Order: sequence, then structure tokens, then C-alpha cells
Amino acid sequence: MAAIQDVLGDAATDEILQAWADAYGVIANAFIGVEAEMYETTEKQEGGWADFKPFRIVRKIKESNVITSFYLSPQDGGMVPDFEPGQYVSVKVQIPGENNTHIRQYSLSEASGKPYYRISVKKEDGLAAKQPAGKVSVYLHDQTKEGDALWLSAPAGDFTLDQQDTRPVVLISGGVGLTPLLSMLNTLAATHPSRQVTFIHAAQNSDHHAFRKQVEELAEQHKQLSVYWCYERPTEVDQASAAFHKQGYIDLAWLQEVVPSPAASFYFCGPTPFMKSVNGALRDWGIPEADRHYEFFGPAGSL
Ligand SMILES: Cc1cc2nc3c(=O)[nH]c(=O)nc-3n(C[C@H](O)[C@H](O)[C@H](O)COP(=O)(O)OP(=O)(O)OC[C@H]3O[C@@H](n4cnc5c(N)ncnc54)[C@H](O)[C@@H]3O)c2cc1C
Repeated sequence: MAAIQDVLGDAATDEILQAWADAYGVIANAFIGVEAEMYETTEKQEGGWADFKPFRIVRKIKESNVITSFYLSPQDGGMVPDFEPGQYVSVKVQIPGENNTHIRQYSLSEASGKPYYRISVKKEDGLAAKQPAGKVSVYLHDQTKEGDALWLSAPAGDFTLDQQDTRPVVLISGGVGLTPLLSMLNTLAATHPSRQVTFIHAAQNSDHHAFRKQVEELAEQHKQLSVYWCYERPTEVDQASAAFHKQGYIDLAWLQEVVPSPAASFYFCGPTPFMKSVNGALRDWGIPEADRHYEFFGPAGSL
């Protein structure tokens, strides 16, 4: 409570501090309750579990220069419970030579209903930003192989596609933020064939662009699906082959060109500056807050 006292100064009477503590307790309990309820629902599901369960890496596939997918099946041969498109799993790893285990969240990048979970992980090598390398992503990329075990929590998270909504949907991603949107896209293509979908992905260039071929193939098979690529720094090959629809950053003027109507549900995910910019553009376009859904790949913040 000392920090609150520092902020409130003389205004910090005993009553105010007590009210603050009570309110904090109510909010914390509400979050704990929601999370517990979510895990309980998953645990009770057929094939569900509590805490962490060992999975085996059955396939490890490079999707771009920086993103690799891991196909994960339960080590006990049990079933893979369903999940909502957009949800993530927590992955617990024991890195050789380290005393502590590490836990990180990874969105499921495939639709539900497969005999595996797929996560797609960007290698945070820290080189571009001159930072230390990320522990878990680098471990997963460099030190794991097919057959190895990873410990997974059951799927969780409330950044999920509203499948009752029949309006057009716009999925906008930046970098590895495409993973939950890919799960939504695959779900929409497989089970909501009449829903109009616009899929927009921003990447540095084709070297960093994961799942391009799969998404383009999906668009060829589903006429209700339109896809657009925005490259920040296209390579010479990208330029020569017109491999992208927009160069630079996504902005409102361009969104208004490619999105058929603002009367849609928007879902977006990517680095925080990307999400701030997309959210600002959608707000300026008049998209109501209730139709702007997003998720942070780190501590939740505000846009
Ligand atoms: C809901 C959710 C879903 C997610 N889904 C995905 C997904 O689908 N795919 C995906 O790739 N990621 C996803 N993430 C992010 C993921 O959980 C990890 O945060 C990410 O892989 C980095 O973990 P790490 O252990 O490699 O890096 P950490 O070791 O945790 O480091 C994080 C970053 O900080 C930098 N860093 C480390 N030490 C320092 C230091 N001393 N000073 C400055 N910088 C430093 C590193 O370079 C790295 O970029 C998701 C996160 C959330 C919350």
C-alpha cells in the first residue's frame, strides 16, 4: 500500500486506503475466478486436464526465416480436446543447464479438431534490437527436435472468434501475431463458408512471411476470402514479382480501399506499436469498440 500512499499523498486517508484494498481484492478475485472457471471447463472436457501435461513434438516445420511450427500430440496417446479459435496454450520447458523451468504462452495456429495442437514460434534472437536472445523461443528453435517432450497447459484465453456472428470479419496481423488469426481463418474457411473474410498480414518482407502459400491456397478454394500482404521493407525479389499489395505500414486510407465495408468484426494482433496504429485507424473509421478485438503477445496493455 506504500506506493498508493506515495501517489495519493495527503489524500490517502485510512478510509481511502481501505477502500482501495477492498476494490483491489474484488478485482483480483474476479480475475482468479474467471481463470479458474476457464481451466475447470477445459479440465472437465473429454480429454481435458489440469495443470501441465506432456506432449510430444511430432513435427517441426520451418514456416519462414524466423517462424517455426511445432505439431504437438499428447504423449499418452489421449485425445486432443477442442478449443476456441484464438486461444493459446502455456508451454513449460526445462532448458538444460538452467535451474528453473520457464513458461511461455503460444497461440494455437491451426483450427480445432485435429489430432494435434500446432504452435508457431518466432525466434527472438535479439540481434536486430541488440538485446539478449529470448530464452524459450531460442530453445524451441535451436535445441528441440521431433520426438522431444514439452509440457502444455490446456487451451485458454478470451481472444476468440465469435462464431455466432454472421457479419463480415476482418483479420489483421503483424509478424508472428498472425498465429491466433490463422486459427480463426482456418475455422472460418472450414465451417463458415458463407461468411465474408478479409485477411490482412503485415510482415517485413517475404523472407519473414509465414504461411503465405497456405493462405493463398485457401483463398483460391474459398471465393468469400480475400487476402492482402503489406511489406515494410520488400526485397528486390518481392519488388520484381509484385509479391505484396502495399509497401510500408497499414493505414486507414488503405484499409478503406481493401476492406469491403466497415460493418464488420475486426480482430487484430501484432507488436504493440502495430496494434496501436491499427486500433487508431479503425477508431478513426468509426468502428465501435465492441467490434475491435485484439490481443497482446505480452503483458496486457492499453491501446
Ligand atoms: C497470449 C499470448 C500468445 C502468444 N502467442 C505467441 C505465438 O503464437 N508465437 C510466438 O512466437 N510468441 C507468442 N507469444 C509470445 C511468447 O509467449 C514469448 O513471449 C516469446 O516467445 C518470447 O519468449 P522468450 O522466452 O523467447 O523470450 P524472453 O526470454 O522472455 O525475452 C523476451 C524478449 O525480451 C528480450 N530480452 C531478454 N532479456 C532482455 C534484457 N535483459 N534487456 C532487454 N531485452 C531483453 C528478448 O530479446 C526477447 O525479445 C504469445 C504471448 C502471449 C501472452
